[in-house]
Amino acid sequence: MQIQTLAAHEKGAELKPFTLEVDSPEGYDCILKVLACGICHSDIHVIDNDWGNSRYPVVPGHEVVGEVVELGNQVKHLKAGDRVGVGWQGSACLQCRDCLRGDENLCDKNEGLIISGYGGFANYLRVDSRFAFPIPAGIKTEAAGPLLCGGVTVYSALRYAGMTSGQEIGVIGVGGLGHMAVQFASKLGNRVTVFTTSDDKAEFASKLGAHDAIVVPAGSSPPQLDRKFNILISTVPAALDWSAYIEYLDSDGTLTVVGVPEEPLSIPLWSLLTKRRRVMSSLIGGRAIITEMLDVAARFGIEPIIETFPLEQVNEAMDKVRSNKVRYRAVLTVS
Ligand code: NAP
Ligand code: ZN
Repeated sequence: MQIQTLAAHEKGAELKPFTLEVDSPEGYDCILKVLACGICHSDIHVIDNDWGNSRYPVVPGHEVVGEVVELGNQVKHLKAGDRVGVGWQGSACLQCRDCLRGDENLCDKNEGLIISGYGGFANYLRVDSRFAFPIPAGIKTEAAGPLLCGGVTVYSALRYAGMTSGQEIGVIGVGGLGHMAVQFASKLGNRVTVFTTSDDKAEFASKLGAHDAIVVPAGSSPPQLDRKFNILISTVPAALDWSAYIEYLDSDGTLTVVGVPEEPLSIPLWSLLTKRRRVMSSLIGGRAIITEMLDVAARFGIEPIIETFPLEQVNEAMDKVRSNKVRYRAVLTVS
């Protein structure tokens, strides 16, 4: 069958229509009719080849919600008509120690949907059904996609940083990922402070569940604070004054960095050592934690706040994401 996509043909390029020929699904593959697809900042990193592994033409889109329309003969857990979501990961070996532990995201053979194949800025998508997740009934189609990448990334990073409840948690950057981190942390019973460059986001933060919001202009250091945090999560795609944020951490506190700045992190060892603090990072989440995150989102009413754009207006939407004007996640809808 022919699939109509929108693709970047070179680094940083505008997206243009691009037709793909796709075979009928075999084995574990299935074909989805795309209903909606979020725009993650990682789509921009890949269009711009920031990580040096982009293959052009790039068809972005890894926060996909679709309806199953065709299945390979090995697919037993899905049927035609099911509503599923697909995130960053397109496949894994499913046999290594990481995969067997449920950490498929850590598999050496982990493949990014839009790195080794084509993503969801399209009318149809062929995917490995083992990385397609049924969407709980309570979650709206347009809002579900961003949970599959942004949502699980922050949920998993917070969990592996030790998030329980009753903790002080700081969220740095209130974009697509950050605004979901605020919701997960606060709805699960933590006190959340946001650090943002945007005045309007500071004003809105309490509606997301934050107890406090601190405006830190881009390129500036955060102010001195008396409060100590158990966990700080950075969702910012740029370098920050890491030393200042580490000083915010309580003893045994963790800074988890999921945003991807270009520069290496420069961190003074002394401020970690004296308080047994940790710095960690993590990549999306495996299948077990994606399933858990979807359950938690449905149960606690956690949904991204979205601005929708018809797929044809993709370049307008991308410009808005690049200029940090989206509140809080752009989602393309496909008719
Ligand atoms: P986004 O929607 O563009 O949000 C990023 C936010 O960071 C902005 O809204 C802004 O928040 C803040 N920000 C941007 N530039 C800044 C600067 N120069 N200084 C300070 N703050 C700045 O992006 P996203 O989709 O949430 O993605 C964020 C990052 O996470 C990207 O690097 C993306 O590639 C990465 N990511 C990682 C994973 C993973 O598995 N680790 C998964 C998905 C995405 P305020 O307006 O509040 O300041
Ligand atoms: Zn993403």
